[in-house]
Amino acid sequence: MTTPVATPSPRSVAPSGGIARIAAPRGARPHGLYDLTLHDLETRVVDLGFPVYRARQVWSWVYRQLVADYIAMTNIPAALREALSIAAPLSLLEPVRTLTADDGETIKTLYRTGDGQVLETVLMFYPDRATVCVSCQVGCAVGCAFCATGLMGLARNLSAGEMVAQVAGAAREAHQRGRTLTNIVMMGMGEPLHNYDATMAFIGIIHDPDGLDIGARRITISTSGIVPKIDALAMEPLQLNLAVSLHAPDDELRSSLVPINRRYPIAMLMASIDRYIEKTGRRVSFEYALMRGINDSEEIARDLAALLRGRLCHVNIIPLNPVDVLPYERPDAAGIERFASILREAAIATTVRYSRGLDIDAACGQLRAKEEATRAAS
Ligand code: SAH
Ligand code: SF4
Repeated sequence: MTTPVATPSPRSVAPSGGIARIAAPRGARPHGLYDLTLHDLETRVVDLGFPVYRARQVWSWVYRQLVADYIAMTNIPAALREALSIAAPLSLLEPVRTLTADDGETIKTLYRTGDGQVLETVLMFYPDRATVCVSCQVGCAVGCAFCATGLMGLARNLSAGEMVAQVAGAAREAHQRGRTLTNIVMMGMGEPLHNYDATMAFIGIIHDPDGLDIGARRITISTSGIVPKIDALAMEPLQLNLAVSLHAPDDELRSSLVPINRRYPIAMLMASIDRYIEKTGRRVSFEYALMRGINDSEEIARDLAALLRGRLCHVNIIPLNPVDVLPYERPDAAGIERFASILREAAIATTVRYSRGLDIDAACGQLRAKEEATRAAS
């Protein structure tokens, strides 16, 4: 196995003051309408003294008509609208900035939470689908060496409602462009399996057939490999897509890139993935951020093929999205193709996925990192 040319710790290369560390207010979590299931809403409506059917009407306004304000719900009594706007506010996230790239096909929204945290959501249009990339935490505790979000550390988990609000915003945005939001990927800021309960509650709400009705097979959870939670996920009734961020085929290299590998090394991770595949019969995706001189050699490609041989899986090569303050680089096109073809020759299903919105820092945490740096400097 080739040793990586350079695997510096992210903390050692971040310039002082470049990325603001976030204070960690872990106090009261916001609770709004987006945190509620339809059943919860029915209980609230009845508790407020209104007939239960009103809840379904409100639900339809929010998730079918995609309105963002109680004022727009014209067939709901003003007294209920007023009571709900206090008991279950709709304004959990305030859009701070919206950026567009790829000829309008990628839209990135920076949101501020009620307690002043900043997070980002990316909406991507393709010919056959519209996908939103959702954040589940502000920052992330895993600290992957090449990831802008990892540089921040963890500020706090997002609530289910703060995740639903991102999806509702994206659905609205898509609708305004004559499109329908079809797919959800948990590939924004944060580690979804470190915020397991809220993530599952979120998925339950967006999956509701009377609401946004996003099918489980259109929802992908991406994880750095939190083994006990992969086992928990295998037991869930919903058949979600699982993507595992592998990035290296051996423990030494993977631990230097994805520190959680020290706790859940590759053999343990693969065993949990095998259990997942056996239990669900679902194909697992492996994400592989390709970095020049780090994890892109032919030898590493062959080791990766050997590791994955015989598994019901698919490899998604993501040519690295370079982060300003980190030293990692994207290989050239020939290097990317060479790596992919070694996997394909070994009969491993492989695609190369170029990140959308490069010019607006659409990769995981990058825009937010810049926003923080700007705020810190001003
Ligand atoms: N925490 C989860 C999901 C969010 S990150 C996870 O790690 O899987 C989503 C994907 O983006 C992961 O595969 C992650 O490794 C990858 N990623 C992070 N920073 C990147 C970068 N600078 N370039 C390319 N991919 C990156
Ligand atoms: Fe966290 Fe995923 Fe970024 Fe790693 S790649 S630091 S797990 S968000």
